[in-house]
Amino acid sequence: QERLKGFGKGVDFAPRHVHVIGAGVMGGDIAAVCAQRGLTVTLQDQTVERIAPAIARAAKLFERRFKGDRRQVRFALDRMIPDPQGHGAVRADVIIEAIFENLEAKRALFSDLERKARPDAILASNTSSLRLEDIAGCLTDPGRLIGIHFFNPVAMMPLVEVVAGEHSDALALQRAAAFARRIDKLPLPVKSAPGFLVNAVLGPYMLEALRCVEEGIAPEAVDAALVEFGMPMGPVELVDTVGLDIAVAAGKALAGDGAAPPQKLLALVSAGKLGKKTGEGYYRWS
Ligand code: NAD
Repeated sequence: QERLKGFGKGVDFAPRHVHVIGAGVMGGDIAAVCAQRGLTVTLQDQTVERIAPAIARAAKLFERRFKGDRRQVRFALDRMIPDPQGHGAVRADVIIEAIFENLEAKRALFSDLERKARPDAILASNTSSLRLEDIAGCLTDPGRLIGIHFFNPVAMMPLVEVVAGEHSDALALQRAAAFARRIDKLPLPVKSAPGFLVNAVLGPYMLEALRCVEEGIAPEAVDAALVEFGMPMGPVELVDTVGLDIAVAAGKALAGDGAAPPQKLLALVSAGKLGKKTGEGYYRWS
């Protein structure tokens, strides 16, 4: 408890510029939360077209958070800079990778980043299910890589897990925790292990909910029961929010009982129905 309270406090680190790579569900919202809290953010993705929806989502968030104060909304949007070429990586204090959950893609990205980034910049991955050590293996100095694991939806979830890989540098972890506090998140120190802490608990919970659906119980009924129980959102809606592709990838990494993922989940993924981000998953969203 004491460790948790003090984690990242009193650390001499005042980040001003965050570079986020991957403007999808997570990266887009991580960028928005940083810009909302007054940091300059460069947001990289493969094309400008992929960045535009994240900026549009951020505008809506700023409208809500700044209660329509046009100046504040404008300033926050000005702080969020589309950067398809990734120029911001050279100057940033904190670099957060939130691209597809693909080990080779992440390794290629980080070996390039290690060459480009300032030597004191934090190099962080938002991965949910890959081993940090496997990503860090591509670096000359594997100690530089840490995890900063945000939860979805980023703007609403107060916790972030600051993940220590086998080789992660202790000061980098403290600085990452200070960064989390700077954007008003609570940093939880965790070790690199399947599911870290939160998903290790949430994974089986969500899987059981999907098994209930598989057995013929309507998603609405499963969700209503858990919302009545006191959860802020039902577990099937949570799967739609997280993204069904991400749920399959995380499920593979977490499946302690070795059981195959639910058939309906796999069928929906094959049909490109990945949840809220594509407009349909277990529910229709558009
Ligand atoms: P997503 O599919 O919504 O977005 C990924 C984005 O990365 C896409 O826009 C894609 O164009 C971009 N991209 C892919 N390769 C790239 C590259 N080489 N350079 C630049 N951009 C690239 O994915 P997501 O759900 O935001 O997940 C991203 C990461 O966050 C994953 O590692 C995932 O495990 C993790 N994560 C996801 C959740 C969740 O609820 N979805 C929660 C916590 C962590």
